[in-house]
Formats: sequence, C-alpha cells, structure tokens
Amino acid sequence: MKLNVRWRRGISASLLLAVLALGSALASLRLGWTAFGRQLDQYAYDFLFRLEPPEPWQPSSIVLAIDEETLSKYGGLIGMRAAMAAGLTTIAPASPAAVAVDMILAEPGNPLADDHLEAAFGATRHLVLAADMRPDGSSWEEPIGRFKKHAEAVGQVHADLDKYDAVSRSLPLEKVAGRERRWALSLEAFRVARGAEIVETPDDLSVGMTRIPSRIADGRLMRIRYAPQGLIPVVSIAELDRNPALATRFTGKVVFVGVTAQTAVRDRWMTPYSNGVIMPGIEMNANAYETLAQQLFISDASLVSVVAGCFLLALSAGLAYALAAGWVANMLTLAILATSQLLPAFTFSRSVVWPWFPGTLAVLFATASAAAWRHLLVRRDLVNAEHEKTRYQSVMQFVTHEMRTPLTAIQGSSELISRYGSMPEAKRKQMAEMINAESKRLARMISTFLSVERLSDGDMELKQERFSLHGLVESCVARAGVLAENKQIEIATGEIPAVELTGDRELMEYAVYNVLTNAVKYSPSGTRISVYGDDNKGDRVRLSIRDQGIGMDKKEAARVFDKFYRTKRAELSGETGTGIGLSIVEQIVTRHGGSIEVESEPGIGSVFTLTLRVS
Ligand code: ADP
Repeated sequence: MKLNVRWRRGISASLLLAVLALGSALASLRLGWTAFGRQLDQYAYDFLFRLEPPEPWQPSSIVLAIDEETLSKYGGLIGMRAAMAAGLTTIAPASPAAVAVDMILAEPGNPLADDHLEAAFGATRHLVLAADMRPDGSSWEEPIGRFKKHAEAVGQVHADLDKYDAVSRSLPLEKVAGRERRWALSLEAFRVARGAEIVETPDDLSVGMTRIPSRIADGRLMRIRYAPQGLIPVVSIAELDRNPALATRFTGKVVFVGVTAQTAVRDRWMTPYSNGVIMPGIEMNANAYETLAQQLFISDASLVSVVAGCFLLALSAGLAYALAAGWVANMLTLAILATSQLLPAFTFSRSVVWPWFPGTLAVLFATASAAAWRHLLVRRDLVNAEHEKTRYQSVMQFVTHEMRTPLTAIQGSSELISRYGSMPEAKRKQMAEMINAESKRLARMISTFLSVERLSDGDMELKQERFSLHGLVESCVARAGVLAENKQIEIATGEIPAVELTGDRELMEYAVYNVLTNAVKYSPSGTRISVYGDDNKGDRVRLSIRDQGIGMDKKEAARVFDKFYRTKRAELSGETGTGIGLSIVEQIVTRHGGSIEVESEPGIGSVFTLTLRVS
C-alpha cells in the first residue's frame, strides 16, 4: 500500500518532469525561431568563428585587385575596364586555372578600353563573368555580347546578407531571377577550373568528386568558411604593372578579379570575422571558392537533433532538482548549463552548427520551473508538518489528561487502603476492584496508542486466528450497549452472515467496536443504530453500521480516515476525541485484506461499511 503510493508518486513525478522538459525544449525552440533568438545564435556563431579559426592551408585562389592605387593610376572608376584589361593581359601567359571577374559589364563603356578588355578576355582561358540580379528580381544584368562570348560561364554575384545585421555568413549557390537560374560565381569558377559538371540532388550539389551539402529547401545556401586574414593572396593591378614578374604567382590558380578600393562601397560586406571591418565582395567570392576547394563545409544540426538535445538538457536540469537538493542540485545545474554552452563549440569544431539560444534557454526554463516546483513541494510539506505537529500536540494533551483520570483514581484508592487499616472488607474489595479496572483501562489506552504507532510503521505482527463474524459483532454490541443505554440509543442487530474470518481477533474487535462507539458518540439520544451484514460477494462479507447522527459532508468523509482528523461538527458536538481511532481501524482492516468506506449526509446520519475477507 505504502509502496503503491510511493510508486504512483514516482510515476506522476517522472511524467511531470518529462512534460516539463518537453515543454521547456519546445518553448525554447519556439523562442529560438524568433528574430531575436536567431540573431543571438548568429552572434554565437560569429564568436565561435573567431574563437576557432580553421588551420591555415595552401590557398588555390588569388585576388587580382583594383585597389585605390590602381584606380588613381587609371583615372578613377572610369578607368576600371582599362585597368582590368592590363592586369589580365599580364597574367594570361602565366596560365591561371580559371579567371572569375566580379564586375557587371552590362553596358558598353569607353570603346577603346572595351576593345582592350575584349582582347584580354579573348586571351584568357576558363573565363567566368558575373551577372547580378536586377533590384526587382525580374531578370539578370548580363555582360554584353562581345564580352560574354569569351566566357565559359556566367555566375551570379548576388549576396544574401543576413536580414537583421547585414553580415555575409552564407552564399546562395543558386539563384533564380525571372525564369533563369544562375550558379554562384565562385561555384562556376570551381566547376570551370575542375572541368566538371554540376550534378544536383535535393540535398546537395556535386562537382566531380566534391559533394557540397546545400539543401534546395534552404535555398541552396552554403556557409562560407572565411579563411584566416591574409591567407588568400591579393595582388593589385598597379603592383603588377610595376613588377610584371609577379604574374608567376597566378600560375595554376583560380583568379578572382574585382574592386577592393574603399570608394567602391557598393560591393563591401561584413563577415563573421570582420567585427565591424568590411570585406570587398571579390574577397568574399574567393573565400567561398576556398570553402568549395578545401571542402570546409559547415552544416546545420538537424531539427530532430536540436529538439532531442534541448529535451535532454531540460530533462537533466529537471532531474538535478528532482533527485538532488541544495548546493548539489545547484552545482549539477551549473554543470548542465556549462554543457549547454560548450555544446555549440563542440559541434562547431566538427563543422556542425548547433544553435546556442534554444539549448541555453531550455536549461534555464527547466531549472526555473523545477526550482519553483520544488519550492512548492517543500512549502506544502512544511505546512503539512506544521499541521500534524499541532494536531499531535493537542492529542498528547488529551492523552495525558485522559491518563490522569485513572491514575488519580488509582492513587486515591491505594492511599485510602494503606491509610485506613480497619477498612471494612467490602469497601476494601470495592477499592481493589476499582484499582484493577482503572489500571486495565490505563493499560488499554497505552496499548492502543502503541498499536497506532506500530501499525503505521508496518512492523506489527498479526495473529492468525479463526473466529466467527457473529461472535465478533455480538461482543462489540454488548460492550457498546452500556454507552448506548446511557444516551438512550438503541442498537439493533440485523442479519449477520454465519461466516468465519481469519486474523487478529482482538484488533478486529477493536475496529468494529470503534466504529460502533463512534456511531454512539456522534448520534443524539433517542436515535437508532443498526448493525447488519451481507455476504453476496463471494469470498467477501460486508458489515455495515448505520446511525442517525450528525453525519458529514463528502469532503469530510474523504478525510475521516486521516490520522488526527476530526470534523467541525464533531468538535462542536462536545464529544472528546483524538481523530486517531478511524485511522487505526482503516489500517487494521486493510492489513486483513479488507476495506472500509463511509457514506454520510450531514444531519441525516452515516453508514460505515467494512468489506472483509471470508476464510
Ligand atoms: P475521534 O476520536 O475524533 O472520534 P475517529 O478517528 O474515531 O476519532 O473519528 C474521526 C472523525 O470522524 C471524528 O472526529 C468525527 O468527526 C468523524 N466521525 C467518525 N464516526 C462518525 C459518525 N458515526 N458520525 C459522524 N462523524 C463521525
């Protein structure tokens, strides 16, 4: 019985814990999807990026830059095409693997410069030109025909910046404008350099042996693994003009040609590395190329793993409070919080992005709710304990008071006997009987209270005797008869089945007698109590004791078997009591494999029914 209750409590607590953990996980995921949550995740991502830069590698790309010096040498922005023509002409003999030009050449420019540029393009092997999306997204701004005809591919240079902080973290490998789809400039440069085709599936793209994870459902975004500062070499056209021998640095490399000058503001972006310093678009493209060439892909953790991770974190935070207390629970929670902080760093070191915000929030949510829950439990226990303590105190007062009465009688009588030696025999006998009766009462009282404690501890051995229900009822009714007569209450015994019971007769008599005397105690004079039974339940027999007394309402009826509980009506009735009797009765009956229930109505009366096992 006790174990059952403990089990039931355990199961409901675990269920509550699981629901709490799941709730925390889902709530934190939901909040993680808000703009605020995503932004925090992005900051955490940038932080990890700076914290764990990749190991340097031998780059296979190089930037041919139109920098400030080049611009001033070639007459400003107008001279860009002439500068590029000069630069490309110088490096062409060095045979780069591919040349990607990040400049929109959608209109004719200075005819002379265009002639030079066309000639330079003609001399360049594996040329990739750029197209940008028109602002309304209706079509592509393509290079004019005379340039395009020399290009092996045209790649798009649309930068998808993050909505809230305009940082470039990912690159759309594919973009559609109007009805035309274009691959990214860096991807085209990669493909052209490898001389392979792009093969697509919903989850990835393949170029030769390289598999590029980029789901079509996520817009074929690829996170750019920015190389450590200075890893990708940058050579300006002005520098090349001064020292044409630098051209050898371009041999076998994929060249990204574009503007790096501060004046060309339009094409400069912030990166996770930049911390406020912007990066020219051409370098961003070179970085995207290196990500592809070195296969340094960073993928996002799957939704299932994030949900499961948040759930586990929340569950362990809840468990910490459910299983431990005080500073142990606090230390455990701290450890779990630390885990939630280290998790993104751990997965990042394995090139997987695990969002920081939901995990952190899940732990905080679960800890807060578990702590609140625990606080409520502790408070409830405290209130219960206080309640029990005051009840217990009043019971002790009552008990000591009750014990004093027989003790005074015993004390007085024994004093009289010893003081008056010449007491008449009859008187002496009467006093001795009184002493005997009162000490028996005292002993009974003490044994009852001891039984309560032992019964509730569950270590009381039950005797196994056979006795008839009839005999049991008869002796109880006879004993209660005196009390009933004093209150002019009639006890009517109805039909009692002729069955035998097995168990501790003394305790069973205590139980039935207690219910019967309660009926007498809580009934006004002139009423009637009926005791009757029925055995139409197979191996069970039912014994009912019905009175026409003060009764009780449903709420009270549910609590009368609680230790120390007394109804308001009983307190007001003037009858003394401890509220212990029925709790012992219930324990005796259940220990015998039976049960007891009460049906009652205030002012009408009560029926206590014991269901007992027949042997
Ligand atoms: P008590 O010492 O108070 O009688 P019990 O454990 O025997 O303690 O009973 C618990 C409470 O149940 C009583 O105080 C009383 O409020 C209520 N009760 C028990 N029997 C009856 C009854 N026959 N009619 C109305 N109330 C009853």
